[in-house]
Amino acid sequence: MIKNYMELLVDEIFNEIKNSYKICNEEKCIHDIKSIALNNLPTHYFKYDTTEADKKAFLLERQRRISVLAKVAEAADIVCSKCYRKGN
Ligand SMILES: [Zn+2]
Repeated sequence: MIKNYMELLVDEIFNEIKNSYKICNEEKCIHDIKSIALNNLPTHYFKYDTTEADKKAFLLERQRRISVLAKVAEAADIVCSKCYRKGN
């Protein structure tokens, strides 16, 4: 099964920050935020024989997590700023 590990990382970071950023719980907003963030990040696929340790290292790499967080926060701003102005 081929998996884009950037998607995994965006999911993870999103769950970490969703309570501290102005993000609504709407399925549409969550979907749009992740889509926008992923369009602004490089995809990352591992080769068949990549070890679990290497995959884990990818997800834990500090600089990468900071970049992903920045993209998710930026996307949340774009998607949810209007929702919040309406008093949601
Ligand atoms: Zn929203």
